[in-house]
Amino acid sequence: MKEDCIFCKIVRGQIPCGKLYEDQTTLAFLDVNPWSRGHCLVIPKAHYSCLDECPDEIIAAVSKKISLIAASVLKVVQAQAYNVLNNNGRAAGQLVNHLHFHIIPRSADDGIISHAPQGKYNPGELDDLAKRIIQEL
Ligand code: 5GP
Ligand code: ZN
Repeated sequence: MKEDCIFCKIVRGQIPCGKLYEDQTTLAFLDVNPWSRGHCLVIPKAHYSCLDECPDEIIAAVSKKISLIAASVLKVVQAQAYNVLNNNGRAAGQLVNHLHFHIIPRSADDGIISHAPQGKYNPGELDDLAKRIIQEL
C-alpha cells in the first residue's frame, strides 16, 4: 500500500468507488470520468506502479477477471464490444501510478478513437528491429 496513491485509498475503502468485483487479489470499479458508460478499471489490490513491476502471478490473476467483468458490463450497458487499455508510464498516458486495466465498452460510431495513424518500415528495417529486440529479451 502506498500512502499517497488514490487507488490504494480506494482499495482501503477510504475513497468511495462504484465497486463491481473484489477478491483476494483483484478489485474492479467504475471509472469516475468514463470514456463511455460502464468504463471501469481492474486493478491488483497491492500497489505496483506498472506492468513491469508486477509479479506474473498477480498479472495472471487480475487479467483472468477482465473478460468476466467485461461480459457483465457489456450486457448492462448494451455495448457491442470493448477495448482493454493499459497505460504504462507517463508518456503513454498513465496518470495514476497504480497498475490498472481499463475496460471501455464500445459501440459502432461511438466517436472514441482507437486507431492511430499507421506507419511503414523501410526495407529490412522490420527484420533488423525484431533481431535487436530478440537480443534484449
Ligand atoms: P490512466 O490515464 O492512469 O491510465 O487512467 C486513470 C483513470 O483513473 C482515469 O480514467 C481516471 O478517470 C480514473 N480515476 C482517477 N481518479 C479516480 C478516482 O478517484 N476514482 C475512480 N473511480 N476513478 C478514478
Ligand atoms: Zn496504489
